This record gives sequence, structure tokens and C-alpha cells, in this order.
Amino acid sequence: MHLVTILKPVKQMDFYHRELETLDHARLGQLQDERLRCLTRQLATNQFYLEKFHRARLDLQMLHSAEDLKRVPFTTKGELVAEQQAHPPYGRLLTYPLARYSYLHQTSGTTGQPLKWLDTREDWENWMRCWGYVYRSAGVSEEDLVFCAFSFGPYLSHWAAIDGARHIGALCISGGGLSSEQRLRMIIESDCTVLVCTPTYALHLAEVAEGMGLDMRSSAIHTTIHAGEPGASVESVKRCIEQAWGATCFDHAGATEVGAWAFDCQAQGGAIHLNELEFIFEVINPQTSETVGEGTRGELVVTTLSRAGMPVLRYRTGDLVELTTEPCACGRTLARIKGGVLGRADDMLIVRGVNLYPSAIDNLLRALPSIIEYEVEIRRIAGMDDLLLKIEIHEKEPFSQVEQSVLAAFRSQLNIRVSVECAARGSLPRYEFKARRYKRVAG
Ligand SMILES: [Zn+2]
Repeated sequence: MHLVTILKPVKQMDFYHRELETLDHARLGQLQDERLRCLTRQLATNQFYLEKFHRARLDLQMLHSAEDLKRVPFTTKGELVAEQQAHPPYGRLLTYPLARYSYLHQTSGTTGQPLKWLDTREDWENWMRCWGYVYRSAGVSEEDLVFCAFSFGPYLSHWAAIDGARHIGALCISGGGLSSEQRLRMIIESDCTVLVCTPTYALHLAEVAEGMGLDMRSSAIHTTIHAGEPGASVESVKRCIEQAWGATCFDHAGATEVGAWAFDCQAQGGAIHLNELEFIFEVINPQTSETVGEGTRGELVVTTLSRAGMPVLRYRTGDLVELTTEPCACGRTLARIKGGVLGRADDMLIVRGVNLYPSAIDNLLRALPSIIEYEVEIRRIAGMDDLLLKIEIHEKEPFSQVEQSVLAAFRSQLNIRVSVECAARGSLPRYEFKARRYKRVAG
């Protein structure tokens, strides 16, 4: 049984640029091609792509349309990292002389060596536009007070979120350098209306608030916006966040090398919009690299159209998505991805012959209200992954009872057997940025 969640009222359907967001398919294609031609002209001074085209025996001048783009080889993260290692510090990835750049950030290095990423003023404006879509489609306006619960540091998404809020005219507060308790007090004292953080951290903040005797459902927060992990589009995670905050939870997706490339909308239809105004998207089979159609899960490939200072062409994001062009109730014509980012292409587990992504486990465990936090140990035994779940539970519940519910849920929903272990309250790590709940251990 699920608790009925009473959310604060959602504002009227809002757009960042209604005319562009509702373009018909043919006109949208023309607009993408125009922007691609504009990017192509700038690429003539980008050494990395000039060489890439040369190696593929392609002439840069052939790149006129999204159709031509399909002949261009993919760009991978490994390739960008290798380029920066071979030609430190930035690789030959810059289109313009260094003096033209104003912003330098770096990736978190979750999946390897961090990448340094530079933006010109024009490129940063592109980021602001992308965030404009994220905020406005969630109904955020100049009347709102946005709280960004991030550590900041060199991470691009944190600064883009705060500048994006200013761009749409909202008042905003940086939550950098504060403890969770201080952040909660600030949210309440300043009557913040919008919370931006990872899904995991929204849940952690709610847990800390409970310990402080605070009920965040009575705070002014009416909207929460998340990225960094698949969580906010995972049904039971979304429900947990909405229950804890009494607010509507919105997902979006982005990457330092690309931009904020997808956004949720007020129709809340379980799929988020691809920003086809600023990017060209393709979905491919990660093994064969062939394009996959609607309704088939594949890896998202992105080309940035308006970030000429450090562009990426046909960039393999590693994110697994399922495309749909079914009309959305919000009126936008932009394609969507069902369930947001479903996982990472390299995160797939094979548990007793069943292919499984961490988001499926997250969805299952977050639907069990007795579980506060969890961690998963993966052992490779005879070519297959074996899972040990460490769970923190509410003290009032006997572990054996919770264990039985977990085992039953895994059996009935995922058809796999797992082991469950009880972790002491507060012993498992909490995450502010990207959660790392899955640990591979020697078999
Ligand atoms: Zn929509």
C-alpha cells in the first residue's frame, strides 16, 4: 500500500520558447541542419575534428545535414581523455585561441580520468538556454527562490544550474560549503520554493530533516529538480522524494561534455524531452553501433549544435535510453525518452542469467518503506554476478520481516535470488553528488 502524497499545486503549463518547442518535425529538422552548417564553418580551426575527418577520408564541407552526420565517426570519452593526456592540458579540442574562453570546469571522473572542459561566453549562453528549458518546463519563474544543494567546486553542472536560475530571473542561493542541517535551515528561513540536487541527496536531506524534527512537506518547496543519476524518473524513487517534500519532482539529464540535453515537463508523463533545438540525437545498439528504432533500448549519441568552442560530434554518452515520438500532453513536439536515462551501457549486471540495470534495483528497494539506505556488493561467480544487499532499516521493524519482503520482491519482480544483510543504522555512506552504491568485490 502506498501513502497518498499531497503535493503543493503545480503552476500552469510553461515554456521557455513556446514557438520553438512546438515546431513541426520538418521545420525542426531544417533548424537543426542550419545550426549544424553554422557549427561546421567554425570547425575549420578545430584540430581534433579536422584530423578525425581526415582519418575518415571525409571533407568537412560535406557536413550539411543530420543525414550527412551519420557518416562521421563516433567520438568517445576514452578518445577525449587520451587526447588531453597526449596534448595536455586541454588536448587539441579547442576551436579558438585560449584567450577567448571564460569558463574552465572538469568532470567528476566517476568513470575514469577527469576531463577538463572550457566554454566561451557564447557557449555558456548555450548552457543558460538549456537550463532555461529545464526550469521553465518545470514551471519555475522569476517569482521563485531556487536552492542549489551542491558542493560546487570545479563541477560544471553546479555552476550551470545556478546561472541558469538567474537567467530565467529567479532568485537563487548556493548551498555550497554547508552541512545538510545548515542547508535545511536556510531552505526554511529563506522560504525557498525550488530545490535542485541529486535524487539521492533529496532523500538524504529529508532523512536529516526527520532527525531534526522538521517536516519539509510544510516548507515552501513546491518543486524539486534532479539529475546526475537516473532516480527522478524511477517511479518509486520519484514517489519517495515527492512524499518527503510534498513537492513535484522533475528529472533532467546532462553531461559536462555535452550540455543539459533533456528536460522533464509538467505533463509528468513518465518520459523526458530531448532538447532537439540545441542537439542532434541518435540512439544506437551499443554492441553493433547500428541505429535502433523507437521502443528499443539503446545508447544515446549526441552532437552539440551551439557549443562551438569545444564541440562534440556523435558523442557516445554511455547512457541507455528508449526513444518515443508519441505526442506529449504538454504540447511540445520534441521527442522524449521513456523513464529518463535508464542506466549506463557499462553498468549492466548479469545476475543468474538475468540482465539487470541498477535503476531496476533502485525502483524495487525504494518501494519498500522500511529501507532507509542500501549498498550492493557484486561478486562475479562462474561468469555471473551474485548480489549481496546491505540494508539499513527503521529500528521498529524486525530485520527478518524486511528480509522476507526484499527476497519476495526480487523473486516476483526480477526473478532473481539475492542475499540480504542488515547494516547498522547510519553505517552506510550517504551521497551528495553521484551515489556509488554498487561495489564489485572479489568472488
Ligand atoms: Zn511534455
